[in-house]
Amino acid sequence: MNGAEINGRHAGAILNVNLDSIQANYRLLLERLGGVPSAAVVKANAYGLGVEHVAPALAEAGCSIFFVTHLEEGVRLRGILTDAEIHVLNGLLASSEEVYPTHRLTPVLNSLGEIEGWRRLCGETPLACDIHVDTGMLRLGLPPDELEAIKDAPSIVAGLNVANVISHLSSADQPNSAQNAEQLARYRRVREILPLGRACFTNSSGIFLSPDYHFDLARPGVALYGVAPVPGEPNPLNPVVELGACILQRREASRGEAVGYGATYRFEKPGLIATLAVGYADGLLRSLSNNGAAYIGGIRVPIVGRVSMDLITIDVSAVAEPASRPGQWVELIGPNNTVDDVARAAGTIGYEILTNLGTRYHRAYTGGGD
Ligand SMILES: *Cc1c(COP(=O)(O)O)cnc(C)c1O
Repeated sequence: MNGAEINGRHAGAILNVNLDSIQANYRLLLERLGGVPSAAVVKANAYGLGVEHVAPALAEAGCSIFFVTHLEEGVRLRGILTDAEIHVLNGLLASSEEVYPTHRLTPVLNSLGEIEGWRRLCGETPLACDIHVDTGMLRLGLPPDELEAIKDAPSIVAGLNVANVISHLSSADQPNSAQNAEQLARYRRVREILPLGRACFTNSSGIFLSPDYHFDLARPGVALYGVAPVPGEPNPLNPVVELGACILQRREASRGEAVGYGATYRFEKPGLIATLAVGYADGLLRSLSNNGAAYIGGIRVPIVGRVSMDLITIDVSAVAEPASRPGQWVELIGPNNTVDDVARAAGTIGYEILTNLGTRYHRAYTGGGD
């Protein structure tokens, strides 16, 4: 990256998404799963990375089962992947039930009411569905009393074409949390009552807990995109995202001068300040103000002052000529500053950094067999 003109387009920042790395991460997860197959979660536009590129790359790597959140995401994905299984986590949307068969989407049924609604829609020809049972997250899925109702009246699920019985871990990124074993025990009980279809339990982090969590089908999302399964521990996954931004302007700051909105950073000695063409409207969270950093040739250059909507300011006093001149490129996410590093500086998690990545970057995709 050495100029603001890329493929004839002018961009202040470039987001590079490495599809080869996503494929390598899928294979790495399969290795960890030791023979258990894996779906891929591509909700929220594949965690912000572009589902129209990411989903075909995963399909090429051998993935044939995908999960999204919204019905609309399922419809969009069906336009991208003709043959894949597509499962919709948010369940059966009342008044839109017929959209599922039309686009061959599998609803994840989250309550007895949804199970009944699906049965009614299917009539004599039971189409594939999933059942989500809550094992301790109190978010989506059949609550314990509805599971007990099925135990007492198995006819509730008789004749259903259940592809997966799923549940979701709340604390798999904290290997020492007692919540993990508790949910595992509850899920085993779920399988005794509902021994239908595949047992699909684990998210990304749970794959790394122990084989006990793997069951018949894994359901990872974030690990495919390179985020560490256990924050703070060595990350076995390949980095997927690089973000570079262009220096627009550079100027000298005198001792005592302040930078940015609110004048929150004041130079204690003369320095050099560079302004970059990215801001919080591009997903550089405002909490990175006076916290985060960029890198120039491996040298850490701290974000000073507040992150603005379109701009951030970095202290480049430590950088030798000519690397801090206008038109030079700066690493915001990359080998020196991973998504997890940025998340830590911003006081959040990698998921939020990825899903906030902006739409004004030039997006470049490498690899993926295209
Ligand atoms: C988002 C989500 C996943 C994937 O979780 P990761 O932590 O990104 O691996 C799996 N299952 C459900 C129900 C989800 O909502």
